Amino acid sequence: FNTERFGQHILKNPAVAQNIVDKANLKPTDRVLEVGPGTGNLTVKILETAKHCTAVEMDPRMAAELTKRVQGKPEQRKLDIIIGDFVKAENLPYFDVCISNTPYQISSPLVFKLLSHRPLFRVAILMFQREFALRLVAQPGTELWSRLSANVQLYAKVDHLFQVAKNNFRPPPNVESSVIRMVPLDPPPPIKFEEFDGLTRIIFSRRNKTIHGNFMAKGVIDMLEKNWKTWCSENNKIIEDDQNMKQRVEEVLTESGYSEQRAAKMAVNDLLKLLSAFHDIGVHFA
Ligand code: SAM
Repeated sequence: FNTERFGQHILKNPAVAQNIVDKANLKPTDRVLEVGPGTGNLTVKILETAKHCTAVEMDPRMAAELTKRVQGKPEQRKLDIIIGDFVKAENLPYFDVCISNTPYQISSPLVFKLLSHRPLFRVAILMFQREFALRLVAQPGTELWSRLSANVQLYAKVDHLFQVAKNNFRPPPNVESSVIRMVPLDPPPPIKFEEFDGLTRIIFSRRNKTIHGNFMAKGVIDMLEKNWKTWCSENNKIIEDDQNMKQRVEEVLTESGYSEQRAAKMAVNDLLKLLSAFHDIGVHFA
């Protein structure tokens, strides 16, 4: 185990730790999931209010330190520590709230793992590298609006809460940090993530290029044709020989009005409309 590989930058400023936990508005009935508790600076504050906390920690030495910290105290009964990699963890317990000073290496898998977790949680308060946090909250038409922004905002409302400077950690990381709040949309949109992700992969490939231009990029039409054939056989549809995928795609783009638009300026709602126009003619992205 080494500090850099596991992103072990311990939050030393108790005021910042308190601020993070306060933002969750914990209730005495709440069950909390914490990812990467380290020595437990957030955990002990979580346990002051919450009913229960499950902490997933990859480094057994950190887990041992945290165990020692609560040993013999009333909080001990409220804490379960799972030793292992959060990204690979199966059968996570039910939780109302997630709080994490995240190991930044797993930022993206962590977010998507949380968003696909069921039942939905109420809120997550998460610390990330500043650049990643700003992409999560970016709005269409701004410089940081990206495939990540769209894929996350499909499922959640995300807000930037506050910045945390390097000197609040030991050892100090090389990057600046930000704390964000993520509230899952309930109910979630009735969309297969793989479909939405398949579309954003194509059109954010060059986010300032026209939608039409990105669809005409090498390999895209072939891929859609393959997906379409699979869809036809799964749905007992006859595949007509004279079908021309390029033409069908261009028709959808023109009729939907998105042909000359650019992903850089399209909101989640636009992306959903475009996706549904393709689904209407049996064209799938996954
Ligand atoms: N939460 C503590 C704090 O605020 O002081 C520690 C934060 S430190 C940035 C990240 C912690 O996550 C470390 O304890 C590290 O061992 C742990 N960690 C790293 N990768 C992990 C993973 N994939 N799953 C679970 N824990 C992980």
